[in-house]
Amino acid sequence: MVVSDNLKKSIIDYIACSECQKEFESGMTDSTSLQDYSKLDIGFSDIGLQVWCRRHEINVCHIDFEGNELEADFRCILANSGP
Ligand SMILES: [Zn+2]
Repeated sequence: MVVSDNLKKSIIDYIACSECQKEFESGMTDSTSLQDYSKLDIGFSDIGLQVWCRRHEINVCHIDFEGNELEADFRCILANSGP
């Protein structure tokens, strides 16, 4: 099976809740990174894909697919446990 590069980590720009970011950057959390501090739900909606902050109960990002059926890859690469 050919492993697509799409299954490797390809994130070049992280999506973060602006409120979480403010709180983290002001130093009012014990978290070592914004990723640690964030509590994001990611899922499909009626129009596309939504990122939701569980901590603040606010929308972070809502991508409208505009009725298009986009290609998505739900496979993953698991690390080998053997040599
Ligand atoms: Zn937040």
